[in-house]
Parts: sequence; C-alpha cells; structure tokens
Amino acid sequence: MINFAYTRATDIADAVRQIAADPAAKFIAGGTNLVDLMKYDVERPARLIDITRLPLRSVEETANGGVRIGALVPNSDLAYHPLIEARYPLLSSAILAGASAQLRNMASTGGNLLQRTRCFYFYDTATPCNKRKPGSGCSAIDGINRINAILGTSEACIATHPSDMCVALAALDATVHVAGSAGERTIPFADFHRLPGDTPHIDTNLKPTEIITGIELPPRGFATNYSYLKIRDRLSYAFALVSVAAAMEIEGGRITEARVALGGVAHKPWRRAAAEAALRGEAADRAAFAKAADILLRDAKGFAHNAFKVGLARRAVERALTQAANGTPQSQSSKKIR
Ligand SMILES: Cc1cc2nc3c(=O)[nH]c(=O)nc-3n(C[C@H](O)[C@H](O)[C@H](O)COP(=O)(O)OP(=O)(O)OC[C@H]3O[C@@H](n4cnc5c(N)ncnc54)[C@H](O)[C@@H]3O)c2cc1C
Ligand code: SF4
Repeated sequence: MINFAYTRATDIADAVRQIAADPAAKFIAGGTNLVDLMKYDVERPARLIDITRLPLRSVEETANGGVRIGALVPNSDLAYHPLIEARYPLLSSAILAGASAQLRNMASTGGNLLQRTRCFYFYDTATPCNKRKPGSGCSAIDGINRINAILGTSEACIATHPSDMCVALAALDATVHVAGSAGERTIPFADFHRLPGDTPHIDTNLKPTEIITGIELPPRGFATNYSYLKIRDRLSYAFALVSVAAAMEIEGGRITEARVALGGVAHKPWRRAAAEAALRGEAADRAAFAKAADILLRDAKGFAHNAFKVGLARRAVERALTQAANGTPQSQSSKKIR
C-alpha cells in the first residue's frame, strides 16, 4: 500500500477547493473501487479527500416531476427507495443486478459512475495498458479479451465500462450535476462517459477538479414496460458480459416511446437514437425488436475471444424488449407475443 494523506471535506466548496489545490488528490466515497486500485498500485493518489460527510444523501422530487439523487446515496438505499421502486424500477433492477449486498451498501451513486474498467490488464501493472499508462500499448487487443468491448473501440483501447446502474441511467436520460471552481453545471448522461479514441486514460468528461453532486431523472420513468437483463458468467457477483436496459411506452399495441441501452459492450453505455426511432410507431413484436437490435449492433466487431458477444447482445436486446413489452421484467416471457 502506498503512503497518502487523508483529509475530510467540510462542505462542497471545501471539497472543490481541496481538489483544485492538489492535482494528485482524489475524492473517496465508498472506496469500493478506489481502495482496490490503490492496493493493486494502479492508482497512486497523494491525498484522499473524504467526501462521505457532505450533505448529498437525499432522494427528492424535483419541481418538474422528476427526481434528484444525491451523489452519496448508497446504491442499496437508492435501489430500495420508494420513489425509485415505484417510478423508476428499471434503475432499481439494474442496481440490484450489480455487485453484492455488502458492496451496494458501501458504493455511492457518484462513485458508481466513476468506477474504472475491469479489463484484466488494467489491473495488472506488469503489462502494457494505455489506460493505466498512456502510450504503453494495449495488451487486450491481442490478449485475453473475452470481457472487452465490441462497439466504439479504438486501436488504443477496447475496454468496457463495467457499471450496471449507468446503463439504466443512460436509458432514462439522466443528467449529472457537478460543481467545480468555475461553478455548477449539468452534463447529459450520454455525454458523461467517453469513447476511448486515442485518450483512453480519460474515462469521462468530468474535469479533474469537479465533484459530482447529484443525478437528476426526468419525469418519464417507464414503470410499466421495462426490463434490465444482465448476462454474466455467474448468476451473481459478476460483471456483465452483456446487459440491456429496455424501456417503452405502448398504446393500443403500438410503441409510442422506446429506450434501449447496452452495457458490457463499450467504453460507455451504448445507445443509438436510430434504433429507438425504428421502434416508435411499430407493433411491439419480434420483427420490430430484431430490427432495433440490428441497428444498435451495426458496426459491432468482435476480437479473438469475444466475438460471441455480438450474437449474444443481439439476442439479449430482443429478449429484454420482449420482456419489457410483456411487463415481465425479471423473468423470461410467459405471455405470447406476435
Ligand atoms: C467485487 C466487486 C464486484 C462488483 N460488481 C459490480 C457489478 O456487478 N456491477 C456494477 O455496476 N458495479 C460493480 N462493482 C463496482 C461498484 O459498484 C463500484 O465499486 C462502486 O459503485 C463505486 O462507488 P464508491 O462510492 O465505492 O466509489 P469509490 O471507490 O469511493 O470511488 C470511485 C471513483 O470515483 C471518484 N468519486 C467518488 N465519488 C465522487 C464524487 N461524488 N465526485 C467526483 N468523484 C467521485 C473517486 O475519486 C474514485 O476515483 C463491483 C465492485 C467490486 C469490488
Ligand atoms: S483495453 Fe484498455 S484498459 Fe485494457 S489493456 Fe487495452 S488499453 Fe488497457
């Protein structure tokens, strides 16, 4: 373990001041990712700024009918919060599909967004990794890449973002609230995480001196027709090989609004406006779902060990949309669908 200083932030302004004053500092919330990375010598912060006492633990309705979630709300509290369970069950399902009960008790909403990739080589400091050490190379491209990305990859990095919660937040069109030395701003969820390009060491568009203060959900929650489907090597306590957050509104058998986001396949939750547009106005049937899956996975490219993900993702999208349409989010469809 490396030596580091430890301080506590007294309020949000103090947290921003402290991080701006020390480029080698990092915030610590639940610590479930950062402490592991420090033990593996992947992250070496000179100072940890503990933000756990900041007043960012509430879940509140907003004036426009949405919900604002504080950045320090633990993942478990969020999943079981009555407002979230009733109005955004897709988010509850996605959170509960992740990690373990103990980890969800510690993990914070803000930290979940900023958890780092699970690419094996990122954690193995004996191997080249452009994300860990820019310019050193990517060991995964010609290595063991079973868990790596099939969409939005670059020659520098084929890592995925491992979060489940973020896949649901992407589908729900959430907004990230942040504060920094220049004041407060909001970032649409689709713009929060980045594709690797030639700067894979930069995961998000959050500035190094900014703090996440909260997440805002718009009023539309898709509480009737939704499904979070996670495919993984073990039934629990494993990251997604492929996951799908599917949500729609259906009137008279026709889809009036649709959302589909994929996890485990790219450096960020993967959505394509054209796939969702192709569903609007269509009957909620397998033909429409297959077409949406084709559009969503257009350009998907597998590597030596993960080409299976392309077909897996296509089938998962169809199944998640079928479950969402049937209103059977947690199980395989038992109702017949045309
Ligand atoms: C064994 C294991 C299995 C897991 N399985 C899953 C899974 O299946 N699905 C899944 O989604 N996740 C999984 N996780 C990941 C877990 O959800 C994340 O580690 C957790 O959400 C991170 O939150 P935290 O509060 O502990 O973050 P920390 O570890 O405290 O911080 C993570 C990063 O975020 C930064 N940070 C934290 N809060 C803020 C803030 N408010 N503003 C700015 N920066 C901030 C920190 O500086 C750090 O860089 C697993 C983790 C483990 C250890
Ligand atoms: S895929 Fe990305 S994280 Fe994995 S070894 Fe390559 S550069 Fe590193």
